[in-house]
Formats: sequence, C-alpha cells, structure tokens
Amino acid sequence: MTDDFACPPWCQQSAGHLHVETDGPGDYHTAEIALIDLPEIPGLRGETAFAVRVEQYVTAGAVYQPVISLGLGGAGEPDDDAFTLDEADILASAISRAVTAVRNARTGRDQDDDAQG
Ligand SMILES: [Zn+2]
Repeated sequence: MTDDFACPPWCQQSAGHLHVETDGPGDYHTAEIALIDLPEIPGLRGETAFAVRVEQYVTAGAVYQPVISLGLGGAGEPDDDAFTLDEADILASAISRAVTAVRNARTGRDQDDDAQG
C-alpha cells in the first residue's frame, strides 16, 4: 500500500478499505451525502429514495476524479448517474432555476396549487 490509496478526507469508509489488485478491477472511495425519502407522486413515481453520493474510482494504475452520483433506489443500483464536480454545479444551478421559475410563475395566482392532496 502506498499513499496513493489513502482515503480522501470526504471518504466515509474505514481507513485501508480499498481492495485494488495490480491486474484486477479497482475499488471506490465513497461517501453518502444525502438519502432523501420521496413519497409517491401518483401517475409519475412510486415511493422511493433519492441518494446523493460522492464516488472515486481507484485502480492500481490510476486515481480517477471524484464524481457526484445521483440515484433513485438503493446503493449500488446500476442506473446511477454520475457527474463531475463542475457538471454537478451546473446541474444544481439548473435545478434551482427550474424551481424558482415555477414558484415565481405561481406568485399572485391561486396558491391552492401548492396544496398536497
Ligand atoms: Zn476511502
């Protein structure tokens, strides 16, 4: 083991957790930033959970950049989407703008639209 395999400060796993083989697959540093329970939206989505994680893939020959993964469902689901830090920044800004756009459009209108039914 070298310092190449030392955990970054954000990693939530125990020190020395990486199992990287010289000619084998790599391993991941991971941190679960948030796991948000989401109720059902009828006709659109069942009850689920939304996870925000940081992952960094490490092999014997390379340490890849950390990425932010967003996923519906449990840990390790293969449909996770991963974004670089810059991409995640852009995504977060875009989501904020979308929320603001819709909320601003409602200003002065019937607020009953917000009621949960
Ligand atoms: Zn780690």
